[in-house]
Amino acid sequence: MTTGRPARARTHRRPHGRTGRVLLALVAVAALLGIAVVVVPMLRPAGPRPLFQMPVACGETWQLGTYPGHDDYDVDLFPTEGEAWGRPVLASYAGTVTVAGINGSLGGRTPENPQGPRGRGGGYWVKIDHGGKWETQYLHMLEPPLVEVGQKVAQGEQIGRLGSTGNSGAPHLHYEQRRGWDKVETHFDGTPSGITADDREYTVRRTSNNCPAVS
Ligand SMILES: [Zn+2]
Repeated sequence: MTTGRPARARTHRRPHGRTGRVLLALVAVAALLGIAVVVVPMLRPAGPRPLFQMPVACGETWQLGTYPGHDDYDVDLFPTEGEAWGRPVLASYAGTVTVAGINGSLGGRTPENPQGPRGRGGGYWVKIDHGGKWETQYLHMLEPPLVEVGQKVAQGEQIGRLGSTGNSGAPHLHYEQRRGWDKVETHFDGTPSGITADDREYTVRRTSNNCPAVS
């Protein structure tokens, strides 16, 4: 049986088909590389928990707390003494800054106007990658962070000042520890905070051991 189509048309199409197949192969290789680069690290287990310290000055006692609707594992920190506005916010552990900017909107709450318009989201915030899939984040800071993306920070290094930007009622630090994509119970100096759920109001006092290393 014959289709009646001239053979010339087929030979004309062939180089085009080969290019298509080569392109398809390249796309397949790129996809496999993408899987290797993106998915394989995602499947790798997290490293051991770093010895996180509280994100506030050595020796200070702060109230750690949560409330209904906050979100499981999230911690709000308020100083038990002294002015909250502008207090140093410190890196919990050494790492690399991956976010330093604005989440949501800043709003207008300042030391001069503490009841100013409320912003949205986290306001001025910082996220630090500690390696082994561990991350910490610090929200509602007063001013643009003192660090920038890509910067390496040491444990205890100041990354910003405590404030009330974003969706914040009063000056405080909202703080999270993450393993992979999951929030986990915050640990400080090797001890769990006890803040695991937001089903009720809960507070606990802890004293910071984020102290300069003794050489
Ligand atoms: Zn919070």
